[in-house]
Amino acid sequence: MKPPEKSDPVFPSLGQLTKPLEWPQAVCRCFCQQCGTMREINQAQAVKLQKIAGQKISGDIKDFYFLVSYCEYCQEQELIVVVKQL
Ligand SMILES: [Zn+2]
Repeated sequence: MKPPEKSDPVFPSLGQLTKPLEWPQAVCRCFCQQCGTMREINQAQAVKLQKIAGQKISGDIKDFYFLVSYCEYCQEQELIVVVKQL
């Protein structure tokens, strides 16, 4: 496994980010930069991620997505969450 500082972070494509949400409870998306997995998240998860990120979304949450440093599919490491606007 590569050390984190040497691995290139993965970014989602705009096509992935602008697809309609499929999960009825989903409010926005969360993208794992380690494995490249895009997930739809609900309101409760979005609130939690904003707290971890230390950033509060103002405006329509559908215009935002979250970048996380790892997800449940990844080997555990420090969780970094960033809120991004589309
Ligand atoms: Zn992951």
